[in-house]
Amino acid sequence: MSKFVKCPFDPTHVMLANRLPIHLIKCTRNNTQVEMLRCVFNTTHLIKAQEFQSHLLSCESRPDFDRFVIADALPAELSAADQIDIIQCKEDWDAEPVVESYKPESHITNKLIMRRLTGGSASVRREFRESERKRFQNITEVNQDESM
Ligand SMILES: [Zn+2]
Ligand SMILES: [Zn+2]
Repeated sequence: MSKFVKCPFDPTHVMLANRLPIHLIKCTRNNTQVEMLRCVFNTTHLIKAQEFQSHLLSCESRPDFDRFVIADALPAELSAADQIDIIQCKEDWDAEPVVESYKPESHITNKLIMRRLTGGSASVRREFRESERKRFQNITEVNQDESM
C-alpha cells in the first residue's frame, strides 16, 4: 500500500504518501514566500496558485470527491415512511395551528379495536367478548365525560 509522492514545494522532496502531511507542515514554514492553495478534493494536496486550476481538473482524488457529493445529495436509503413524515410535518407547520394537532377523539377511537382471543373453549371466548364489550362501554363513557 505504500506510495511515494513528491512535495509540492520541491519535486526533489520524495516521501511516502502517509508522511506528506507532516512534511508539508515543515515545508510550508520554509516556503512562506510561495503562495500555495489547498486542494478542495484532498487536504494533503498543496498546489502553487498558478497551477491550482489545472490541478483541480486532473486531481487524482477528484473521482472520490464526486462520488461523495452525489451520495450526499441523493440519500437512497430514504424510506417511504420517512417521506410521509416529512410531508405531514410540513403541513402541520404551514396550514394547521399547533393546538389542532392533538385530537382526543381519534385517540379514543384507536382504543376501540376489538381484541380477539385465539384458542380457549367457547365459554371462555364468550366471557372474553363480554369483558371487551364492557371495556368499550367504559371508554365511551369516559369520552362523553371529557367532552362535557
Ligand atoms: Zn518539501
Ligand atoms: Zn488534489
